[in-house]
Amino acid sequence: MLRANIASKRFTMPTHPETNGSGLLPSLWDETHASTLDEPGRLLYRSNLLGADKRITNYGGGNTSAKVTEKDPLSGEDVTVLWVKGSGGDVGTMKRDGFATLYQDKLEALKGLYRGVEHEDEMVGYLPHCTFALNPRAASIDTPLHAYLPYIHVDHMHPDAVIAIAATSTSRELTREVYGEEIGWLGWRRPGFELGLELSAFAEENPDAKGVVLESHGLFTWGDTGRDCYETTLRIINKAIAFLDEKTAGQSAFGGLVRKSLDENERRAVAARLMPEIRARIGQDERKIGHFDDSQTVLEFVGSKKLGDLAPLGTSCPDHFLRTKIRPLVLVLGPAGDVDTRISDLDASIASYREDYARYYETCKHPDSPAMRDPNPVVYLVPGVGMITFAKDKATARIAGEFYVNAINVMRGASAIGTYRGLPEQEAFDIEYWLLEEAKLQRMPKPKALAGRVAFITGGGGGIGRATAERLLTDGACVVLADIDEGALERATSDLAGLFGGDLVRSVTVDVTSEQAVADGFARMAVDYGGVDILVSNAGISSSAPIEETELSMWNRNIDILGTGYFLASREAFRMFRRQKLGGAVVFIASKNGLAASPNAAAYCTAKAAEIHLARCLALEGAEAGIRVNVVNPDAVLQGSKIWTGEWREQRAAAYKMAPDELEEHYRKRSMLKRSVLPSDVAEAVAFLVGDASAKSTGNIMNVDAGNAQSFTR
Ligand code: NAD
Repeated sequence: MLRANIASKRFTMPTHPETNGSGLLPSLWDETHASTLDEPGRLLYRSNLLGADKRITNYGGGNTSAKVTEKDPLSGEDVTVLWVKGSGGDVGTMKRDGFATLYQDKLEALKGLYRGVEHEDEMVGYLPHCTFALNPRAASIDTPLHAYLPYIHVDHMHPDAVIAIAATSTSRELTREVYGEEIGWLGWRRPGFELGLELSAFAEENPDAKGVVLESHGLFTWGDTGRDCYETTLRIINKAIAFLDEKTAGQSAFGGLVRKSLDENERRAVAARLMPEIRARIGQDERKIGHFDDSQTVLEFVGSKKLGDLAPLGTSCPDHFLRTKIRPLVLVLGPAGDVDTRISDLDASIASYREDYARYYETCKHPDSPAMRDPNPVVYLVPGVGMITFAKDKATARIAGEFYVNAINVMRGASAIGTYRGLPEQEAFDIEYWLLEEAKLQRMPKPKALAGRVAFITGGGGGIGRATAERLLTDGACVVLADIDEGALERATSDLAGLFGGDLVRSVTVDVTSEQAVADGFARMAVDYGGVDILVSNAGISSSAPIEETELSMWNRNIDILGTGYFLASREAFRMFRRQKLGGAVVFIASKNGLAASPNAAAYCTAKAAEIHLARCLALEGAEAGIRVNVVNPDAVLQGSKIWTGEWREQRAAAYKMAPDELEEHYRKRSMLKRSVLPSDVAEAVAFLVGDASAKSTGNIMNVDAGNAQSFTR
């Protein structure tokens, strides 16, 4: 009922600045809308408003709660239920089902079971016993922090401006200076039961306080109504923003620039060269996907005087370093942006980062700590160029970058008002290798078959190209669609992004016959995703004419697109494969006509035969580097194909003396299996040939033509 209500009013969330910047936060509370909602609806509304502005909290960071009176489903009596954001999820984008619901009286009873801070992890196991109304959403580790505060509405946010205060060596004094008695301060403590009790004790002892700054962590605020709580949260953050603005007025951030930024094209060119090289060095055990950020905020920090001092201190907020690792790797280019010098000592830089990580693990580990995880850096800072992040998938790499931007904002503020302090190594370790965190990792679903892989698909705007993209996306690959037809490319990209999410799909306009355009397309992909694992060379045309009437232009067009185009895309892929040293998989979409001669199509058939032979040559050359090259030969794929919409269809129909719409049935009957061939059938063959199931196959031809004796391979 409630949702229908909202939908009928077509209420949309107000938009907010996505980036972090100065300027005070306006209240966006719409009482007319809020008054139409029930209490959990108002909590959701408040959560989404807060989480939509990254200055208020980082992606996935923070949580909100309300203590709501509900009818107990067993007794029918009124009970108090804690609605609190559940484990995982993001306050900005969460839906109503993102809240865990727990009986408040049972949560209170847990205090009697608590055996002290040494045993606080065991309390997490009791939380499911407090579940109200069989809600399947798991309660998070922050649940006691909300439960034991004696206020109905509680917000816990990670605002950069407040964390800047919380992460200075004098954060207690600064908190008092900014907020006086209104906001308290609690020293660093890992979230959990003990922190919940500390917050509760603070609130009891300070009934006039409106919240607490948690050292190196974030902010708690509360209120009697949802609106009151929301507006208090904004007001408290605004005080911090105003304080920082005043203190930093006239100062250059981070001591000023010492390394001028390259211009945008140069920055991207460096990233395109560097990212596959980094990927080669960190992706041997588990393939990684990259993300590049050269925003002003990043450039100001990486080119600054204080970079050398601040970067090694690492990030402070636990949310930040869980994603970014405790510290980044700084990669300084040679003079004038020289990348080659940098690449030549990349091995040493990464090896030394790994050694340092292993030292951190060995020094801080406990007898029951989980085994050391991937020791490679996540964040790479390149002065003059920007920030590169690598993780197991695109969203994780992008979010790691966003979190480091939060950390930059924190460091900017903190270092302007005092001495910035990262979290002590042991505390960082205890969070990173927390058994509860490990259990969360163990519960994650197994990665999909092509997770961590990047596929470049030429002709991605066409029938077979698009179906192939959809199939590879289903297996978890990141996909770059390359096509000369901008309209088709745009449609395919937006449809696929709608189905699989924007992180996984990119497009680039490329004429495969242009050496420069193909090179640029691959460079774009390297900046977007860090490299390439799969090439599906598929862009194509068709033409039909008896040999005497085949114009030179028709001949050349076939050879250019189907021969030269396949050569250029493969050459670029091979170059990147070799730099990455991770092998590679190439599939050529050739044609039955590459094996079986067909009348009145000499240019097309010859070019398709050339493709097939090119694939064999490349299979031979690539094998020693683990690069596999195979061919899929479709036949008569009418559905979704642009080839079959124009003249070609009419010509083929005329050749068989039938109407164009009878052709599909004609081809079906002509096939040995009496079945129509669909783009998804071709895509399935490609998925097999680029995946690990065919790891030991190269130089093969797979016909997807419903059976045609003429094209049997011999
Ligand atoms: P399609 O026309 O739907 O898709 C081909 C795509 O290639 C189009 O989006 C087109 O814009 C793009 N393209 C053409 N020239 C290009 C260029 N110079 N640079 C970049 N992109 C360019 O056709 P389809 O049926 O999806 O065909 C895909 C491949 O499959 C082609 O190589 C074709 O020869 C081959 N094939 C198709 C069939 C079939 O019956 N559809 C049969 C055998 C082989």
